[in-house]
Amino acid sequence: MASQEWGYSVENGPATWVEKFPEARGARQSPVDIDTTRATSSGKAPPLVWRYSVNHPRSIVNPGYCWRVDENGYDSELRGGPLGSDVYKLEQWHCHWGAVNGEGSEHTVDGRSFSGELHLVHWNTSKYGSFAEAAGQTDGLAVLGVLLMVGSRHAELEKVVKLLPYIQHRGDKVTFSEPLNPANLLPKQTAYWTYPGSLTTPPCTESVTWILFKEPIQVSAEQLALMRKLRCGEASCGVEAMEVLHNYRPTLPLGNRELRDYGIN
Ligand SMILES: [Zn+2]
Repeated sequence: MASQEWGYSVENGPATWVEKFPEARGARQSPVDIDTTRATSSGKAPPLVWRYSVNHPRSIVNPGYCWRVDENGYDSELRGGPLGSDVYKLEQWHCHWGAVNGEGSEHTVDGRSFSGELHLVHWNTSKYGSFAEAAGQTDGLAVLGVLLMVGSRHAELEKVVKLLPYIQHRGDKVTFSEPLNPANLLPKQTAYWTYPGSLTTPPCTESVTWILFKEPIQVSAEQLALMRKLRCGEASCGVEAMEVLHNYRPTLPLGNRELRDYGIN
């Protein structure tokens, strides 16, 4: 079994990505450490507005490095805040986590890691014709980042977690039999930080307006433990199909990019 093109092991992890994906060494990479002393306080933001469709068929996939819920092209809308008048549509959402609690978030806040991070990936439908086209443009994508901390069980995420045993290996995919509401994954407080960045997985394209909520959401230790049981190989790899114990990229320099702070928390 050939090793995967990229992943999170010593052989194919973030430090090696630049060899195959030159954009990964750019000046607009993500994630970053949110240095709150460097954030430009912008006061009250123009409100960020989202509307997600609940009752449509969704699938959950194991691409070999996380779990990912595909929205299958159904209607949704994200606009406002730093996105101006452009309307973005939800393409997919997925999660990053760590080998132990207390690590696993991609963004850190004043050097502090959280136990995981959800990413809701949207693309700019006002300017581009498809996700693939938008993904290559500097204003093509908007990702909502939600930090995870260990606490009580998260009811909406439980709908995902209970399907993980059915997508244990790379390439596995099942369809949800119940409605999901992505809005239930977002924290109650809408204060956020925003900065221009990149995809945090190869090809690390510099196309993302990042919107990271300040308030973390709680997930249980059991829910995180089930995520770590996903395997990065196909079923045919047998015992070689290693568990995805961690799947976060270390932070990269913010450089001279502006980090804006919206809302009071
Ligand atoms: Zn991500």
